[in-house]
Amino acid sequence: MIYKRSSALFAQAENVIPGGVNSPVRAFKAVGGTPIFVKEAKGAYLYDEDGNKLIDYINSWGPMILGHAFEPVVNAVIEKAKKGTSFGMPTEIETQIAELAVSMVPNIDKIRFVNSGTEACMSAIRLARGFTGKDKIIKFAGCYHGHSDSFLIQAGSGAVTFGAPNSPGVTSGTAKDTLLATYNDIESVKELIAANPNEIACIIIEPVAGNMGCIPPKNGFLQALRTLCDAHNVLLIFDEVMTGFRLAKGGAQELYNIHADIVCFGKVIGGGLPVGAFAARNEIMNHLAPLGPVYQAGTLSGNPLAMAAGLAMLETLNNDPSIFTRLAEKTEYLHKGFTKVLNDNNITHTINRVGSMISIHFEDNAVIDFKTSAKGNNETFKKFFHGMLNEGIYIAPSAFETWFITDALSYADLDETIAAVNKVAATL
Ligand code: PMP
Repeated sequence: MIYKRSSALFAQAENVIPGGVNSPVRAFKAVGGTPIFVKEAKGAYLYDEDGNKLIDYINSWGPMILGHAFEPVVNAVIEKAKKGTSFGMPTEIETQIAELAVSMVPNIDKIRFVNSGTEACMSAIRLARGFTGKDKIIKFAGCYHGHSDSFLIQAGSGAVTFGAPNSPGVTSGTAKDTLLATYNDIESVKELIAANPNEIACIIIEPVAGNMGCIPPKNGFLQALRTLCDAHNVLLIFDEVMTGFRLAKGGAQELYNIHADIVCFGKVIGGGLPVGAFAARNEIMNHLAPLGPVYQAGTLSGNPLAMAAGLAMLETLNNDPSIFTRLAEKTEYLHKGFTKVLNDNNITHTINRVGSMISIHFEDNAVIDFKTSAKGNNETFKKFFHGMLNEGIYIAPSAFETWFITDALSYADLDETIAAVNKVAATL
């Protein structure tokens, strides 16, 4: 494939944007080469500035669960835009999407909309601290909850791709309040709670981790966290930025039948526009300003275009829950196909999958936490990434990311992808 125009655009961007990108993983640093500049996208496909067509397995890192330029979303945005793009005043559509979200997600009474997953998680821990009157939080190594200071402590995703899991600029004062546990290891959480009695406000977790590849929670792990939290007056926060409205209508809470105290959303909830949200039962949410003392705000929060996109997306998912089954079936089909062709080619690998999230690790031991994920062979991944790209398949340019399956993918697309994996595997 030719990337002449993408290369030229990247060089131009590098002059005026740090690293040429507005979010680090886009720069292809982990895999080398030139990032692809996208011109447009429709359904399962990206069309780049050089005229290449690519089957997309990133889907804007999750939001485009029904494919690109999904018509109900696009039309809703166009109609809203004609009536004004921001007011900084309440609008009816904010209540409509809030009512719908509250009806779809278990165990929440109220929801507050923000502009990104980062804001959602940042606000959720402030709320947890305000509600409990305690300062410390527990997060898991390799989980990513956005780029706010408290979370840039052994974060996953881009933070680890760039070899800087602990970012300069995060003060030691902030860092000391973030305690690190090991994903899928309940003993590591118990130890932290025992060592910090009555100091821990909350435990925040990706109920299915998606930022060290896809890592499912072990049987009973989330329930054990719930039990621990109840015993120690600690709030359990599910960061469902990836899993919300993706694994089921009610996200991971529904899939695993576990209630969190605060739930964070992003990605799908905005239908591709900048939206995040956090939600909880009344007793917690009523601590938020203007009802309570915990402050949180936003000029563009509840923006009408963003709400229109999100509402159209959630309505579609709510009206046809078979989408989630279909997505899981397509992902399982890929899993089986990948397993066969990778085995045929004697490639050491582990595949993890939950619903429509899947990742391939070039590592033969079970990938259950950050350590085991980081053991994967990055050189093999790089070759695999570029090989797939050459076959017209766009996967995340980092071994620490999940593939996001969209309903726009046809079985012909899936077969093409499996055939590409077979061809590339032969070169690894
Ligand atoms: N939480 C999780 C689980 C995420 O995957 C991400 C982004 N990938 C975030 C939070 C941050 O969301 P955003 O990039 O919208 O700020």
